[in-house]
Amino acid sequence: MRMNILVTGGAGFIGSHLCDLLVSAGHHVLCLDNLFTGSRANIAHLLDRPNFEFIEHDIIAPYYADCRLDQIYNLACPASPVHYQLNAIRTIKANTIGVINVLGLAKKHGARVFQASTSEVYGDPQVHPQPESYRGNVNPTGPRACYDEGKRVAETLFFDYHRKHGLEIRVVRIFNTYGPRMAVDDGRVVSNFIIQALKNQDIAIYGDGTQTRAFCFVSDLVTGCEKMMSQENFVGPVNLGNPTELTVNEIADKILALTGSQSKKIFRPLPEDDPKRRRPDIRLAKETLAWEPKVGLEEGLKKTVEYFHQVVK
Ligand code: UDP
Repeated sequence: MRMNILVTGGAGFIGSHLCDLLVSAGHHVLCLDNLFTGSRANIAHLLDRPNFEFIEHDIIAPYYADCRLDQIYNLACPASPVHYQLNAIRTIKANTIGVINVLGLAKKHGARVFQASTSEVYGDPQVHPQPESYRGNVNPTGPRACYDEGKRVAETLFFDYHRKHGLEIRVVRIFNTYGPRMAVDDGRVVSNFIIQALKNQDIAIYGDGTQTRAFCFVSDLVTGCEKMMSQENFVGPVNLGNPTELTVNEIADKILALTGSQSKKIFRPLPEDDPKRRRPDIRLAKETLAWEPKVGLEEGLKKTVEYFHQVVK
């Protein structure tokens, strides 16, 4: 069935890949973005498609759609620590006022509404790997709180609109994701290391590099998002991520080997509240969505290196 689908944050890294998937499936896609971290370049190839529309708009202000909306994916929020801390109060507004605007829009249209939540709701986790039942270890007053607590209250709002107004919600918790179209100035580990390696600059490891993350390639991630949105009678939250865990040191070594770079590893102070370990428990996604990631780290990193090779040459 052809649907009218709104994607907020649609010009961002994950949002633009999701728009690709939905446009290819023949849906009419309205892509909303304030272009703070998203970019026109990410969606340039979609602009002449008849079933794609771009609207420059910030969800902190209410949005009124011209057509009936069947589904809304809410991805609008800066997601890298560097970007979400640049204007912490705006980040909180996106996750409170912005989310209330999105939920109000969904209520008006009777649309199913999807929230891109995050593994950051688990904070610096004391349970490893993290299942959805874990309630997290978040510092409410630290520099990451604007995002972590913002995303937590966004989940609360989604569940309250579901309970109070019967809204059809779908909540996913996205773990570290990488791939083409990550912003060059994103500041995240994979993009930073690849850019530094390609430029033969020092690879700056924060802390001693023993902290861990698990990385999901973006095509796997958006497939999981769409599967979750298509589920009947399952609201989540559900973890989406790749459970292959490695240390930041290991990521650096892999990227150095793949690029054949002359870069040296150097060590910088660890940012405050940087989680020590993170790996998704994806049993729920496997059981309920029949989803699991397919793209291995080597293959995904190669594609990402190719992309940055074009962008930063
Ligand atoms: N990191 C690093 N060097 C960088 C960027 C990040 O060592 O240039 C570390 C960071 O301290 C964290 C991990 O890599 O421990 C992942 O950071 P990222 O910002 O990608 O995402 P996070 O999972 O912290 O949101």
